[in-house]
Amino acid sequence: MSKTLIIGNWKMNLNIHQASLYVHELTEKIPAHTDVDVVFAPSNLALQTLSLQLRRKDFKLAAQNVYFKDEGPYTGEVSAVMLRGLVDYVLVGHSERRHVFGETDKDVRAKVQAVLRAGLIPVLCVGETADERANNETKHVLHDQITGGLANVSSEEIHKVVIAYEPVWAISSGHDFAKHKIPSSVDLEKVRDIIRHQISALYGETAEQELRLLYGGSANGDNCAGFLGLKGIEGLLVGGASLKREEFVTIVKKAQSLRGEA
Ligand code: PEP
Repeated sequence: MSKTLIIGNWKMNLNIHQASLYVHELTEKIPAHTDVDVVFAPSNLALQTLSLQLRRKDFKLAAQNVYFKDEGPYTGEVSAVMLRGLVDYVLVGHSERRHVFGETDKDVRAKVQAVLRAGLIPVLCVGETADERANNETKHVLHDQITGGLANVSSEEIHKVVIAYEPVWAISSGHDFAKHKIPSSVDLEKVRDIIRHQISALYGETAEQELRLLYGGSANGDNCAGFLGLKGIEGLLVGGASLKREEFVTIVKKAQSLRGEA
């Protein structure tokens, strides 16, 4: 059984000083657990400071984005090769990259390749919008995002890829209680089956069994056990709640207690 993976995506929040202080406070409260990996995805600016500060055995780092070329005249970009040694994971195709910055499945595919080439683990984010969901297009959208994102990934490489299902309609809805939207267990199980069947069809049963599939979208201390308790969901990608210390600690502790004693 793979480890449970809890990734805190801080998005464009916390400067270097704040990030360092926050990690100091958080890590004091999170006991190490052999079956749960805790990963922080700060801004690129804070990566070096945090990589020196953290005991990398107990906590890992992720980049929130990457460029698909390894080096060259690409002003403002950071390559996967440059992230090597600083992070273990790289988020690829996050919904904000797709919908705010216009990233296509072709861009996402090139980034997944670049991350694997650098020896890092891509976390391929997929998910449908509210309109696509209303039009019953979820299966079709996920199919395109997965085949598009993984097109160049070989059967030798697939076990390194993590997939995060993040329905766009659920992301960041947690700030406003009245608008709080998350999938029901039945909906999430349906999507889990769609994704797992697709991986099995593309790469075979072993790849499907080894796949680490995460859920993301307004996960918090109250609802996380519901997601983590579903068979075939191996962790969470947490946005807003990862910036609230008590909330994130609760999520990690619930993940740990679901995996039993360390
Ligand atoms: C995210 O951005 O990956 C995310 C899951 O955000 P939130 O938890 O705030 O919905």
